[in-house]
Amino acid sequence: MLDLFHDDSHRALAATAARFVDTNIRPYAEAWEEAGSFPSDLAVRAGAAGLLGPTYPESVGGGGGDVFHGLVVAEALVRGGSVGTAMGLGSHAIALPPILALGTDAQKERFVRPVVAGTRVAALAITEPSGGSDVARVRTRAVRDGDHYVVSGQKTYITSGGRADYVVTAVRTGAPDSGHAGLSLLVIERGTPGFTSGPPLRKMGWWASDTTELFFDDCRVPAANLIGAENFGFYAIMANFAQERLLIAATCVAMAAEAIRLTERHVREREAFGRRIGDFQVIRHRLAEMRTREAEARSFVAVVAERHRRGEDVTAWVAMAKNAAVSACSFVTDAAVQLHGGLGYMRECGVERLYRDARLFAIGGGTTEIMNEIIHRFAPTSR
Ligand SMILES: Cc1cc2nc3c(=O)[nH]c(=O)nc-3n(C[C@H](O)[C@H](O)[C@H](O)COP(=O)(O)OP(=O)(O)OC[C@H]3O[C@@H](n4cnc5c(N)ncnc54)[C@H](O)[C@@H]3O)c2cc1C
Repeated sequence: MLDLFHDDSHRALAATAARFVDTNIRPYAEAWEEAGSFPSDLAVRAGAAGLLGPTYPESVGGGGGDVFHGLVVAEALVRGGSVGTAMGLGSHAIALPPILALGTDAQKERFVRPVVAGTRVAALAITEPSGGSDVARVRTRAVRDGDHYVVSGQKTYITSGGRADYVVTAVRTGAPDSGHAGLSLLVIERGTPGFTSGPPLRKMGWWASDTTELFFDDCRVPAANLIGAENFGFYAIMANFAQERLLIAATCVAMAAEAIRLTERHVREREAFGRRIGDFQVIRHRLAEMRTREAEARSFVAVVAERHRRGEDVTAWVAMAKNAAVSACSFVTDAAVQLHGGLGYMRECGVERLYRDARLFAIGGGTTEIMNEIIHRFAPTSR
């Protein structure tokens, strides 16, 4: 029911994305997951197919679509069988929106257009070793020196941190105790002296996506790379979250759907006690619960996305949609492993990977607890 609000342009993009995934991702997904990376020219092919910027303006090479065009692509990528590849390929979706919202035309041309074409990679770096939930406590310093900023500090858990050519980085330009009012966003380019990334961090899931630490050691960054006004970064980061969290929610719904598809196939084929396990009532009911949780989350995400498309303030609704989709995905992937028995615990089995990959979504893009805080603060009061 995410397609409740789709028109022909969404359906056409879904078909293009499905064809791309069938040819370019699915046959290799398992090998890339085991290798811990995917080939860099995949982005070029995805860019040529129009899959890297479906919601970005046509003036920078994007598709000019709405939020549902983004969700359609997110869903299709999950069906490729490697959430890690989908996340690595999709790191632009959290990095570029602040540039599109607040950047100059020259910045958009320089940093956005090549990423949409797939010839450059963009990442967003907010989280630091001292914490990620409390964005207002960012410690990485950027001190103005003539027409440069001198940046020193460290980031961690950055998606595409090892590949990124451009890192949209949250830095403190205000006083150390300035909180959210002293943050700015700077694009720090690969090759800038003093900027290095660590080796890929070893993770529970998302294996094909590179996740690294970033180090800034008196790194001189042109002041021309400041996105928006100085000390306005916090608001840019917050404005970005609605779209990011809807993408995460749609990804979770797609993962739940994929886990159900694999499980339905398995219970039709597997036999125990002289009959197919899908004929046991308890298993039929468990599958019915899985389908219900997926459908609930799918419908809710669709409605919230539609309200976002209409320009309503959906801060609390997006947080609810993320938590609902994450919870549905966790329930469904856990049940999928259970219904596969021992096979569900094996690396060769698709649901084993979905189960591991799902765990991150209660943490990344704002934790479940932070979503609950947002719901508490922003949801309309009941009368
Ligand atoms: C694979 C992966 C990819 C990632 N990609 C990126 C990326 O591209 N860019 C980026 O910037 N970051 C990225 N992150 C970081 C991610 O956004 C953070 O891990 C997340 O925001 C949580 O921050 P933290 O890990 O510091 O946990 P903490 O902030 O230390 O939280 C620890 C626990 O305390 C809870 N908690 C904190 N504050 C409160 C509160 N007020 N009330 C109740 N509970 C609270 C949290 O919910 C959590 O359960 C990624 C992380 C992973 C694992």
